[in-house]
Order: sequence, then structure tokens, then C-alpha cells
Amino acid sequence: RDIVRLEDARKIYVMGAEEVRALAGVSISFERGSFWAIMGPSGSGKSTMMNVLGCLDRLTSGAYYLDGKDVSQLDDDSLSELRLSYLGFIFQSFNLIPQLTVQRNIELPLYYLGWDAARSAQRAKELAEVVGLGGRLNHRPTELSGGQMQRVAIARALTNDPQIIFADEPTGNLDSATGEQIMELLDNLNGQGKTIIMVTHEPDIAAHARSRLHMMDGLIDRIETETHETDQPH
Ligand code: ADP
Ligand code: ADP
Repeated sequence: RDIVRLEDARKIYVMGAEEVRALAGVSISFERGSFWAIMGPSGSGKSTMMNVLGCLDRLTSGAYYLDGKDVSQLDDDSLSELRLSYLGFIFQSFNLIPQLTVQRNIELPLYYLGWDAARSAQRAKELAEVVGLGGRLNHRPTELSGGQMQRVAIARALTNDPQIIFADEPTGNLDSATGEQIMELLDNLNGQGKTIIMVTHEPDIAAHARSRLHMMDGLIDRIETETHETDQPH
């Protein structure tokens, strides 16, 4: 079953007398376990698409099925509950809380999910190991490199064992070698079955995705998908 399905998705911003069609009727499905890069020029609708798929924003019309459930009419509280229990987010600017240690940053979603302190601490330690930061639990973000900060953000995104990881320009603030390391981590997570949806301008970064969706003027311009070997005719 598809983890994500948009049907004639439209997002229209009304600004005075003007209408901006940020999504102008998009229909697409993403399979569970797929890895998508969303590309396209500035203003083509990438952020809007991410915000809708990530349950941060609602469509003006059309349907959004998340894991088979139509979520397009849900209210803000239900959307935020979905995000917290079901989705993980990684951003270009890492979005860590500077006053909190690595451990506390990673634990934050679990705090909101009501986990007790001991269980949260255990989970944070496990995830710090997964992203290669086991020795840095008591550091603060300012004591880390950009790549390490993004690793913390990835660990935080994994706390709730999300169905989908959304990555918005995840390497945008990193040098290319560090960016490649972060992409390797995302490749590994995808290899373990996580669905990943990423926005990027960089072809080298997009090359890590197994499918690429190019947006133009609020519509899908074209799609490149790597064919799975099992799909080849014998
Ligand atoms: P991209 O991420 O590809 O740069 P966006 O999704 O941010 O594209 O924007 C698509 C179009 O929608 C642009 O014309 C943008 O100006 C417009 N837009 C995006 N968000 C808003 C908003 N909150 N209010 C009005 N117009 C918006
Ligand atoms: P990026 O494409 O780098 O993510 P954008 O400029 O598209 O950045 O969008 C940054 C934020 O500003 C988004 O949350 C988007 O919804 C909002 N935004 C974009 N264009 C407009 C606009 N014309 N009016 C109001 N908000 C906008």
C-alpha cells in the first residue's frame, strides 16, 4: 500500500485580488520504503508540497491519504498529533535548542509524547549511538560541528520511530564531504525501510534518492524513478 497519495491536490493562496496556485492539481503516490527527492526552481511549490505531506499545512482542495487515511480534513490538533506520533523532520538549519544538551534535544519529542524520563534517556542514548554521537550526549549544539548537529537532528527525528522522514535541504548548511556523510546516514535509514521525502536543489544530493520529482509552477514537471531489479522482465 502507498504510504502517501495526493489526489488533485491544490493549494491556493489568496493575496488581495491575486491568487497564487502553489499546488495546481497534483496527483502522485509514494510507496512505503521509497526515497523521494522533490526538486524544481524557487517558487515551483516544493515547500508547499512538503508542508502538506508533512501535515504542517492543509490543502485548499483535493485529497491527501497518509497510510491509507484521508487526512485532508483534519483539524490542527489532529495534524500535530499525527506529526508527533508518525512523522520525523530534519531541516537545513538543524533547529536544535541551543540551551539543551544533545540528550535533551533528542528526548524532546518523547517528552511531548509523555514518555517517562528513564525510558526517554535510554532511547536517546540508543539513537545517539545510531547516528554516531554516543560520546556527545552532554554536549550542547554550540560545541558541535554542523554535521554533528544534523546527526542530533536525525536522532531526534527518529525518536518516535516515524513512518516517514521529511528532510528539507538536509545538507544545505554543510560542506560537501559532511553532506555526503549525512546522506549515507539517510541511505542507511532508507535501507532499513524508512520512507524518506527530501527537498533539495543539489543534483548530487538528489542522486541519493531512488525517485526524483521535479516541480514547475505548482505541477509535476517530470518524474525519474530507478527501476527495481525485481521489476525487470525475465
Ligand atoms: P518553493 O519551495 O519551490 O520555492 P513554495 O511552495 O514556497 O515554492 O511556493 C510556491 C508558490 O506559492 C510561490 O509563488 C510562493 O510565493 C507562494 N507561496 C508560498 N507560501 C505562501 C504563503 N504563505 N502565502 C502566499 N503565497 C505563498
Ligand atoms: P524555500 O523554498 O527555501 O523553502 P520559501 O521562500 O519558498 O523558502 O518559503 C519560506 C517560507 O515562507 C515558507 O514557509 C513559505 O510558506 C513562506 N512563503 C513563501 N513565499 C511566500 C509569500 N509570497 N508570502 C508569504 N509567505 C511565503
